[in-house]
Amino acid sequence: MTTAFVSHSDCGRHDTGWGAPEHVGRIRAITRAFRERPELFMRLLHHEGRHALPAELVLVHDLEYIRGMHAFALAGGGRLDPDTVASEGSWAAATAAAGCVLDAVDMSFDGRALRSFCAIRPPGHHALRDSSMGFCIFGNVALAAHYARRTHRADRVLIIDWDVHHGNGTQALVEHDPGIHFVSMHQWPWYPGTGAASERGIGNLWNVPMPPGLPPAEYVDALRTAIDAATVGFIPDLVLISAGFDSLAGDPLGGFTLEMEHVAVLTREVVERATAWCKGRVVSALEGGYVPERLGEACMVHLEQLG
Ligand SMILES: [Zn+2]
Repeated sequence: MTTAFVSHSDCGRHDTGWGAPEHVGRIRAITRAFRERPELFMRLLHHEGRHALPAELVLVHDLEYIRGMHAFALAGGGRLDPDTVASEGSWAAATAAAGCVLDAVDMSFDGRALRSFCAIRPPGHHALRDSSMGFCIFGNVALAAHYARRTHRADRVLIIDWDVHHGNGTQALVEHDPGIHFVSMHQWPWYPGTGAASERGIGNLWNVPMPPGLPPAEYVDALRTAIDAATVGFIPDLVLISAGFDSLAGDPLGGFTLEMEHVAVLTREVVERATAWCKGRVVSALEGGYVPERLGEACMVHLEQLG
């Protein structure tokens, strides 16, 4: 069984400035964390992802938005929305981030690596069909779900989002597809304001809004319960994780209380279920997580349990 660590050097070209929570140091912290884990580093398949093509991005985005993003970045970038900035390298970064997840899906289905973690930025789960939002440019994980459906004939894809913020973009991009079930646990009420339990899409959404500051086991239990509810009579062919590590205790952008052991438990339980459902196919993609050292450590724990 091979597990891949998927990355792309272009993800470092999305220059948001060091004052932004979502900065290039986040990815560097992951690379640094490997220094303490040489055995983990050695047993992973290290894969440089590709760039997603506009012809792929149109699975979830308007062509006009895609073209506009290309032109905006080439012209030097600037502020895209109140939270999101782009630099000249952001087109290369955003297409690489999406392309890494698509490559991971390909590897999961063709057997090169049944499981992957994609260390990518910009993140994706707030991006909408025709706009950036909340540090996100393209909907990496929603795109991967539709790509798996289209290219690999996956009948059922499960998305699990444990970022502390609601994956409103992912929700908007999958809520009409009965072949995609989306589970999101998030702080509520909190940014971006969506994600009430009553938001069910066509019965394919399981939103788990939670207050901040609870004992961590309560978050683990709530997410586990939602995953099990979302898979009654729905055996996924692929599991995607929106791995936001801003759900860890101490994150400046959230009030959840998870520690490394909870990242381990959640990852292990998803892998166990995926093994029963679909040969163990799990593709995980980085979303938030704004204390770089904690993020790096969490990625190591996550990878240890994936592989
Ligand atoms: Zn987040």
